Amino acid sequence: MQIGVLGGGQLGRMLALAGYPLGLRFRFLDPVAEAPAGQLAELVVGDFNDEATLERFALGLELVTYEFENVPVTAASWLAERLGVYPPPRALEVAQDRVAEKTFFQRLGIATPLFYPVLTRNDLLDGLERTGFPALLKTRRLGYDGKGQFPLHSPADVEAAWTALGGHPLILEAFVPFERELSILSVRSRNGQVAFYPLVENHHAGGILHKSLAPAPATPARLQHEAEHIALRVMEKLDYVGVLALELFEVEGTLWVNEMAPRVHNSGHWTLEGAETSQFENHLRAVLGWPLGATAVRGCAAMLNLIGIKPDFAKVLAVPGAHLHWYGKEVRPGRKVGHITLRAETPDALEAGLRRLEAALAPATD
Ligand code: AMP
Repeated sequence: MQIGVLGGGQLGRMLALAGYPLGLRFRFLDPVAEAPAGQLAELVVGDFNDEATLERFALGLELVTYEFENVPVTAASWLAERLGVYPPPRALEVAQDRVAEKTFFQRLGIATPLFYPVLTRNDLLDGLERTGFPALLKTRRLGYDGKGQFPLHSPADVEAAWTALGGHPLILEAFVPFERELSILSVRSRNGQVAFYPLVENHHAGGILHKSLAPAPATPARLQHEAEHIALRVMEKLDYVGVLALELFEVEGTLWVNEMAPRVHNSGHWTLEGAETSQFENHLRAVLGWPLGATAVRGCAAMLNLIGIKPDFAKVLAVPGAHLHWYGKEVRPGRKVGHITLRAETPDALEAGLRRLEAALAPATD
């Protein structure tokens, strides 16, 4: 049985690795010949918008899923007329536009930052009347890892923000004074079964996810229920199939949704060794309509991203409980090239392991 995956990055590569024990085969589509999934599986290199390429990609596939949320909706819809595409292209459409996404949350009664669509400089000034300072100006589309964002601390920043981003469709958001950033990964199978992973605490550096802790420390059961309730509403509204990630802000003990990712997610990489069933395996089970695997955590886990650095593998692997995942990408500044999962039986042991790991990752000083 061969599964088609739109996008051939590290997420696709990890999907393939999770699928091989289940006897699955994969075919990826990516515009880049060096896409990391190509080291493991068939890779069709071509443009997502080219029908001849899509036809070649789709030939003989069981179904199609994606690992990249900026796949053109037209490509996903074209494929959906011919074979099963999961999650539904509608989920892509909502997730690709920050205004559509936040409007969608609002209509479901889900708290989200105050926002204002901005096309002109006047819209920006009007929006700032509503949001006040500080605020964030973001591109509506194609922003990720903090790219395409400009913080506004005072009226003095308006000109610079407009010079940086003006000309694109934008969204202005009130700055949310959150206590911490969390995420929830949920999964819904084609057979209707749903499952939730525990809330994860996320730490960013320079707008890029740096570290995740699972389960999120000191999290009351009430917050987990709230997160699951939000995720369930989103999945049911979209008739969703697959893994869905929601990025959340914790604000005075309640949850606000910042954004959703209709795919497996970086803040779920810890599940590879830290959960009974990984997000990658559960995504595949879901899109195939198979029973979902248990989402329970094994002890506790942390995930550290390797961003623009190649560590000394031996030093990393010498840390008890550390598991290295190297994506086979060229190392460039700011690029996610691998991650480490750290597993421990107790939060204290995890903390001690993290200190050892951080020392193992520190650049040599001599
Ligand atoms: P995003 O691209 O929307 O995921 O934003 C990247 C990061 O910027 C988030 O993980 C937050 O740390 C921060 N951020 C985004 N939007 C807001 C907001 N409205 N208020 C405060 N921080 C934000």
